[in-house]
Amino acid sequence: MDGRYDIAIIGSGPAGLSAAINSKIRNKNIIIFWNSDLSRKLITAPIINNYLGFHNVTGIQLKQEFESHISNMGIKLNYEKVNAVYAMGDYYSLMVNEKMYEATAVIIATGIEFDKPIKGEQELLGKGVGYCATCDAPLYKSKTVSIIAYNKDGEEEADFVSELAEKVYYIPMYSGELNINSSIEVIKDIPLEIIGAERVELLKLKNSEIKTDGVFILKNSVAPDQLVPGIIIEQGHIKVDRNMNTNIPGCFAAGDCTGKPYQYLKSAGEGQVAALNAVLYIDSIKNKK
Ligand code: FAD
Repeated sequence: MDGRYDIAIIGSGPAGLSAAINSKIRNKNIIIFWNSDLSRKLITAPIINNYLGFHNVTGIQLKQEFESHISNMGIKLNYEKVNAVYAMGDYYSLMVNEKMYEATAVIIATGIEFDKPIKGEQELLGKGVGYCATCDAPLYKSKTVSIIAYNKDGEEEADFVSELAEKVYYIPMYSGELNINSSIEVIKDIPLEIIGAERVELLKLKNSEIKTDGVFILKNSVAPDQLVPGIIIEQGHIKVDRNMNTNIPGCFAAGDCTGKPYQYLKSAGEGQVAALNAVLYIDSIKNKK
């Protein structure tokens, strides 16, 4: 760990980046986590006409402007997926696989995923279904584990699990060459259902079935209520007030994860509000000491 940060920002879309620049301007010691491609929702936009000051730009062009802005301000992005955030009283612990970071305040800017869960995923969550293979790998010593991975980062996690588990199946949901331990069996198929009475017993795919003790689903993002235990979700979004406070003091949220409209400027604006209020929160904690 590199000491305690003032603010940890999770997410690198317009909400997270705006939170980062505003925190930096207020002289706060920040860490910002990102996952893949800065924001897939940014780079895939064919044309953007509603971002003030940037008429008729592509998502890629806007992304380049964002990158140059943060790099000119000396902000570095930490390419790590945060698995869990725990409120520890007057600070937060952030779990990133086997690493741990600490920050006084946290801003959740993880966007929103529309992927439907696999049948049985929610029912068997915590009963053999998990989202962090490296965190829970020790539970599967000498057992069979199936890993459904949505990006290349899953390969490192699969290698780690294969050192403990008896057998690892790897189901890549992306294209490209794989670079994983030879002991891991790769299955190119589409997962349909996770089956089990008390715990996971079987993973049903379109063309085959795997008898398995655990299924790890490694998505690009983690659902907010799994990311921050105890956070209140309302109609699928993190519940916030006008200052972007969640129900947990010192934990703020901004962008698509707080609700509609799903738009760049709304996200960037909320990122700014979250950052300014995180700064006030940190100062109030320092004044109490
Ligand atoms: P995102 O941009 O989704 O960024 C969140 C990022 O957080 C993720 O990409 C990921 O890298 C990171 N992340 C998530 N979880 C974790 C974790 N656990 N650890 C570390 N990092 C994590 N809006 C407009 O206003 N105008 C448009 O023209 C427009 N066009 C669009 C076109 C397309 C094709 C799409 C898909 C969207 C478009 N939008 C448009 C909507 C806009 O993209 C979103 O509203 C905006 O990107 C939301 O920003 P955000 O910062 O909340 O989240």
